[in-house]
Amino acid sequence: MELLKIEGLEAKVAGVGGREILKGVNLTIRAGEVHAIMGKNGGGKSTLAQVLMGKESYEVTSGSITYQGKDLLEMDTEERAREGIFLAFQYPVEIPGVSTSYFLRAAVNETRKHRGQPELDAKDFLKLVKEKQSLLKIDSSFMNRAINEGFSGGEKKRNEVFQMAVCDPTLCIMDETDSGLDIDALKVVAQGANTLRRPDRAILMVTHYQRLLDFIKPDYVHVMIDGRIVKTGGPELAQELEDFGYDPIEKSLAGSK
Ligand code: ADP
Ligand code: MG
Repeated sequence: MELLKIEGLEAKVAGVGGREILKGVNLTIRAGEVHAIMGKNGGGKSTLAQVLMGKESYEVTSGSITYQGKDLLEMDTEERAREGIFLAFQYPVEIPGVSTSYFLRAAVNETRKHRGQPELDAKDFLKLVKEKQSLLKIDSSFMNRAINEGFSGGEKKRNEVFQMAVCDPTLCIMDETDSGLDIDALKVVAQGANTLRRPDRAILMVTHYQRLLDFIKPDYVHVMIDGRIVKTGGPELAQELEDFGYDPIEKSLAGSK
């Protein structure tokens, strides 16, 4: 089933004279698939992730996004979240005094209500949390700490993947915005994504780290340059990028102009 279909998507920074960033993105993601979008910094990868989540600082000027047969652009960010889209690393901030547990239960129950499922009481929620913790091999002390407070880079990533697992999204978007992500944190993200693979769920990983793909095998790899997906392939494309970098692709683009 087609979960997400992006056609001719153009977007710019909101406001008069805002810079054009996405210049015609086409991308189809079916349930069960893992896609990686790669590319050098500044290509528009994070912007695409933000536009999918409905961030108001970007304005869609052309094209369409269809999610589970519905017009995604008609939905606000909260509706998108309730419909099962989860942008990992959307809560990188530290929230002193708010425990992960409190925050997560509220988020989970919000989605459950929307899906017509009963809300989880404290006991059932704890059960769900324990299950995901053992799945992702997470230390249970996490839940009692304030969100991301004093977490290392790797711990933050692990917590974020954990939050994603508990929220049970249909479309997981993971954006590796952080520079200086160490190899442990990369592994956490990749292994988390592997764990979250499911036939009724899709994962979109946005990264400029080729090494990420040493730990996860996406079904499709896309290269994004200057606001467009200019090349799509299988996992072998990641290897090609590792070996030759983006130069050959950029050269062939320049040649075809
Ligand atoms: P990537 O994630 O591929 O590195 P981004 O989507 O973050 O790329 O950014 C693409 C380009 O758009 C960059 O040149 C960036 O500086 C610019 N950009 C992104 N968001 C904004 C914004 N809110 N205001 C101004 N420029 C922006
Ligand atoms: Mg980015």
